[in-house]
Amino acid sequence: MSFQITCPNCGVRPVWEFHYGGPARPRPGGDLTDRQWAEYLYNRPNIAGEATEWWYHRSACKLWFHVRRDTRNNHVFETKRFAAEAAGG
Ligand SMILES: [Zn+2]
Repeated sequence: MSFQITCPNCGVRPVWEFHYGGPARPRPGGDLTDRQWAEYLYNRPNIAGEATEWWYHRSACKLWFHVRRDTRNNHVFETKRFAAEAAGG
């Protein structure tokens, strides 16, 4: 299904200009084992509904940013630049 994403730099563009980067979620803190890192990196949630995700504008400005999207119908609620201080990271 084709849809459009509003890049915070470039404006509305077709989804094929972007690269999906997976769900946005907090990075685990503390001393993690290899197994725990593998769980974090490779066992991603598969959300059916509203999700916040990383997207990369590979065809233009090369910005990584957040998209809040309904994964069932690709409706984009909002896009925004990532703010590390707001996410606690
Ligand atoms: Zn862009």
